[in-house]
Amino acid sequence: MVMKTQNCLQCGMKVDSDIRYCPKCDNDIRSQTDGSTVTVDIAHHGEKVRDAQRKLAGSIAEAQQGLAATLRIVVGGGLIREQVLSDLMTFEHRGEIRGFTIEGRNPGAILVSLK
Ligand SMILES: [Zn+2]
Repeated sequence: MVMKTQNCLQCGMKVDSDIRYCPKCDNDIRSQTDGSTVTVDIAHHGEKVRDAQRKLAGSIAEAQQGLAATLRIVVGGGLIREQVLSDLMTFEHRGEIRGFTIEGRNPGAILVSLK
């Protein structure tokens, strides 16, 4: 994996994205967010349920490294959606996400609160 850098939103210092606290201002980097939403589609490229589960876990891990507040997961209908909702309950239980809701006018997409 390539080491990414980002700027601390508090003081602007450039830090490695895997770092937890800013070395300059001590702000918790992982809790910083720019309020944006990142969308991933894990159900419309011929994925089997297991593929979708892998993509879900990977997308959450990757998004946690970034600044987005929300991960929007397009799950379509059917089995993938059912499995993803169940997996998200586990993620929420473990404290890896803050919560999730089904997108209001689109039951085929789930909004995950990352931080
Ligand atoms: Zn800082």
